[in-house]
Amino acid sequence: MAQDNITDDATRAGLEDLVLANRILAENQVLDGFGHVSLRSPARADRYYLSRSLAPGIVTLEDLVEFDLDSNPVAAEKRKLYLERFIHGEIYRRRPDVQAIVHSHSATVVPFTVSSVPLKPIYHMAGFLADGAPVFDIAEKFGHTDMLVTCHEHGAALAESLGEAASSLMRGHGFVAVGSTLPIAVYRAIYTQQNAALQETATNLGGEIRYLDPEEGRLADRSIQTVMQRPWGLWTARAKNPKA
Ligand SMILES: [Zn+2]
Repeated sequence: MAQDNITDDATRAGLEDLVLANRILAENQVLDGFGHVSLRSPARADRYYLSRSLAPGIVTLEDLVEFDLDSNPVAAEKRKLYLERFIHGEIYRRRPDVQAIVHSHSATVVPFTVSSVPLKPIYHMAGFLADGAPVFDIAEKFGHTDMLVTCHEHGAALAESLGEAASSLMRGHGFVAVGSTLPIAVYRAIYTQQNAALQETATNLGGEIRYLDPEEGRLADRSIQTVMQRPWGLWTARAKNPKA
């Protein structure tokens, strides 16, 4: 139980937020029985926290496990772990700017992982998609697999595909969203899904779609990041008290 050894306030607060992030993403149907969210350790850049293998909607502090960047648990751990934890370790290794990662199998987003129609920013809330979302095709390097990111090599290939982007699609699987804070990663995961739904709606209208220009997207992303505490405050309040 990772929190037994936590003495610094930043880490304790981070872990409490990570529990809430699990609930928030489940509530927003970005995560269901599957998918996960992680936080780079506030105390050590070469470690991260992720739940043991558990549905995100029921994760508590006791379920969080501390991992090194090889995605091995730091302390002895007998509980089952997520098979796809290598997504997190390898992205943290490649992207020092990333402090939190969400991995989702959102049914709203998956069609864009297999279609030749690219996911593009429909509105300002998805400005982080300004430069598009790369599509990671696990078959390109690894041939026929079970489609899961279950080893260092898979994770490193995904991280390479992500590059400097905020979100990467995964063919026939789902997507990852990253952020420089936990609220930003959660926000990007929720709004990757929202943008996919809106893009499908706009496409069904039948006319030509005018997406955000890359510069509009970058400017919008910068503005939204300055007000991240507003949605985060709402989401965490609801996660703490679902009846409110
Ligand atoms: Zn997955």
